[in-house]
Amino acid sequence: MYLKTLIDIKLKTTESEVQFYLKKLFPINRSLTGNGNRETLAILEEITPLNIIEYPTGKVVYDWEIPKEWNIRDAWIKNAKGEKVIDFVNSNLHVVGYSTPINAKLKGSVLKKNLHYLTDQPDLIPYKTSYYNENWGFCLTYEAYKELFNDEETYEVFIDSELKSGSLSLADCVLKGEKKDEYIFSTYFCHPSLANDNLSGTLMNAFLLRELKGRKLKNTYRFVFAPETIGVIAYCAAHEKEMHQIQGGYVLTCLAGQGRYGYKNSFAKNHIIDKIARQTLKEKQTDFIAYPFVPQGSDERQYSSPGFRIPIGSVHKDKYHEYPYYHTSGDDLAFVTASAFMQTLEIYLDIIEKLENNTCFFSLNPHCEPRLGKRDLYPSIGRRTMYTYHEETIEHPVYLDELDIIMWLLFYADGENSLIDIAEKHNFHFSQLHEVLTKLVSKGLVVLK
Ligand code: ZN
Repeated sequence: MYLKTLIDIKLKTTESEVQFYLKKLFPINRSLTGNGNRETLAILEEITPLNIIEYPTGKVVYDWEIPKEWNIRDAWIKNAKGEKVIDFVNSNLHVVGYSTPINAKLKGSVLKKNLHYLTDQPDLIPYKTSYYNENWGFCLTYEAYKELFNDEETYEVFIDSELKSGSLSLADCVLKGEKKDEYIFSTYFCHPSLANDNLSGTLMNAFLLRELKGRKLKNTYRFVFAPETIGVIAYCAAHEKEMHQIQGGYVLTCLAGQGRYGYKNSFAKNHIIDKIARQTLKEKQTDFIAYPFVPQGSDERQYSSPGFRIPIGSVHKDKYHEYPYYHTSGDDLAFVTASAFMQTLEIYLDIIEKLENNTCFFSLNPHCEPRLGKRDLYPSIGRRTMYTYHEETIEHPVYLDELDIIMWLLFYADGENSLIDIAEKHNFHFSQLHEVLTKLVSKGLVVLK
């Protein structure tokens, strides 16, 4: 089959490199703030340089303020025999994020109020946080809870953490293009050892940025790495003017799992970012699930709020809330694969190719059809066309021969129809439309808008 991408990109990213960084970043204890976040950004900077920003505790950002900085050194629970029954060293999911320090002996009947587990997934540790209510807690499997805890025994509980004035760390990088049009690629990195949600998104944003660096770009691309919610709120507050320049974008999250692809539409549903993402998933022959926009979700909550109204979509491979390991210890490096990651990287790169090359165009012979033969665009011997159009039976985009595409492009050459609109409407491959359009420009038949 005739398959072609818009340009033949030689990827800088390799599967083994993805594997290496997944392993390196997975064990780090990340949260809204803290040294684990700085360490994460420092590792991402090994991939590609970033602009690191720190916002101090207490800084007011719209209706919120930057919280205290949280750091944790150690945490465990010992039973009456002095044996550690939970140890933070084994999994940073064992401690509720933002837990306050504690060093106390507590009876099981009291301690159990601060223990969290999943009775319906008894072998998994849940991921819990208590960002805005000072509290402490431990998370464990229900199996461990049943085996190791009882109401009568006295346990020694120790959390060596610190909540104090500090700062919230995030990073961005803006790649300037020739045009004013700007798109945002945003990800969050506040989750500890959870691979799909959202180490996959964090790492993807870094590799995508590196792939684009050094390329001559038409659009401007803004890459943001921030803790979810408060980080993006702080970023928007500090970049309000810049935010108003942004046409649309994507939140990179949950994109390298083992299930089906999905696309969460922006609130606009048929914005260029939606059309391009859906078309790309179709062209890649992914049997994807279309998720409607809902105001719950990730950082589209901030970018798409009334003051900004930036359409934001997300390509998923196992969307948050949709896979059983979501926010549990099951979302680990066995669930996320480097090959799925590479597949999604290619999808996002293809999306960017389309953002770069989508255009409307005008015919220079708008009154009746131009004569193609004298421009070597029409076969000298009449042909037998084999194409029939039954749109309802088409599952994947179709490739046409050049003459068919010429006819369609000339039909649509009124400055009102963009390549992505034509591709979507007729289920054609964008790359092929673009290739033929380039030829029509060189033959002096059309001009780009
Ligand atoms: Zn999450």
